[in-house]
Amino acid sequence: MKRTNTFDIAPDSETTEEILTRVLDASASLWNKLTYDRRQQFFDGESVWECDGYYDEYVDVLSGATTQQIARVNDTAWRSFFELLNDPEYDPSPPGYWGNQDDGRELRTYIRNDSYTIQWNRRSRLEIRIGMDLKDEYGFGMYERLRLPVRGNPKWRGDSGRLEISYDSVEETYRVHQSVTIDDVEESRSDGSEAAALDLGANVLVACTTTTEEQYLYSGQTPFEQFRETTNAIASAQAKLPDGRHTSQRIKRLYRKRSRRRDHAVNALLRDLVERLEAAGVSTLYHGDLTGVLGEYWSVEANLKAQTFWAHRQCIDRLESVCEEYGIDVGALSEAWTSQTCPECGERDRTRRHRETLTCPCGFDGHADLVASRTLLERATNTTVRPTARPVRFQWDDHQWFPVEGATVTPNE
Ligand SMILES: [Zn+2]
Repeated sequence: MKRTNTFDIAPDSETTEEILTRVLDASASLWNKLTYDRRQQFFDGESVWECDGYYDEYVDVLSGATTQQIARVNDTAWRSFFELLNDPEYDPSPPGYWGNQDDGRELRTYIRNDSYTIQWNRRSRLEIRIGMDLKDEYGFGMYERLRLPVRGNPKWRGDSGRLEISYDSVEETYRVHQSVTIDDVEESRSDGSEAAALDLGANVLVACTTTTEEQYLYSGQTPFEQFRETTNAIASAQAKLPDGRHTSQRIKRLYRKRSRRRDHAVNALLRDLVERLEAAGVSTLYHGDLTGVLGEYWSVEANLKAQTFWAHRQCIDRLESVCEEYGIDVGALSEAWTSQTCPECGERDRTRRHRETLTCPCGFDGHADLVASRTLLERATNTTVRPTARPVRFQWDDHQWFPVEGATVTPNE
C-alpha cells in the first residue's frame, strides 16, 4: 500500500538554494506553458495532445527525466478531466496553472523515483538530478546531483515513488512529499472500498462524510478572518491611490500575503483530511460541482467572498494531486439541492435553514454542510449513510489543524 513521507529540505548555501529555486521555477514555467497551450487548444476545439516541443526548452535545466515527469503529471490531469467531460453528471473545468498573476509562479516540481536518492542517517540528504546547463553554470561534474540536507525522519520505509518538492512561503521552507510503497502488513480496517464526499463552504471550509460513517468539519473562522482583514487592507490602500493609478507595490504585496496564507491553510487542510480518509480505508472521494453557486442560502456578497477565497480550480487540482499520492480516486458530482435536501426523508422544498442548521418538518435537524456532504455521498454511492458518532471539528492555528474537544457543531456567532 502507498504511504507518504513528509520532510523539509534546508539548502546549506545560497548557491544551492538558487539552483533549487531555478529547478522549481522552471518546472512551474513548463507546467504553465503546457497548460496554457492545452487550454487554448481545448477552447478552440483542437486536440490537446498535439502540444509538445517543450522538451528541448527545459531539458537543460530540469534534466530529461523531470521534464517528462511534469509533462506526464499534466497528461494525467487532462486525462481525468476528459474522462469526466463526457459524463452528463459532471461539470469539470480544465486543469489550471501553478500560481497566478498576482503572486507569480508557485515553486513546485515532481521528481521521478529514478532521478533522486535519499540517504537516511544522522546527516540525511536528498540528491536530485539537474540539467546540463545548470551543471555547467555551477561547476557540477557530469554525473553530479544537487545535494540537499534533509530535516526530519522518514515515517515509512519501502519502495520509493515519486517525489514532490514545493516551497511553503508561509513557513519559508522547502517541503518534500515522498510516496513510498510498503508491504501490506497492517491492512486498514476495511478493504479500501470505502468512499467519502466533501462539501466546500465558508463558515465551515470543508465538511466531509465517509461511508465508515465518520464526519469531519474544518472551521473557516480563522482563515476567513485573516482573509477578510487583508481584503479590507487592500480596499483601504486602493482608496488612497492617486487618480489614474490602479495598483501599488503595497497592494500587490497584500494580495500575495492574502493568497499565501489561504494556500497554507488549505494545503494543510487537504493533507490532514486525506490522511484521515486513507487511514479509514477510503478509496474514492467525491466533491461537488464547484462551478455553481455555493447554495441558495448564501447572499450574493457571501457567495462572492467564498468564491474568491476558494480559488476553486486551484483547490481541486491540489486535492487531486494529494489524493493521487495516497491512491485515492477523485470524482466530481453535481451538488444541486444537496444542502437543502433532508437526508432522512428526502424533503427539499419545506426544509428551512437558519444559520448553519437545516431543519425539516419530519423532525430532522443537522449541520447543513454535513448534510450536503452526506447527501452527495449517498447519491454518489447509491447507499444509505447513517453517521452515528459526533462529527469531529477542526480549528486552524496558523500551523496545523487540530481537533477541538467536545465542541458543538455550530459556532456561528
Ligand atoms: Zn425530513
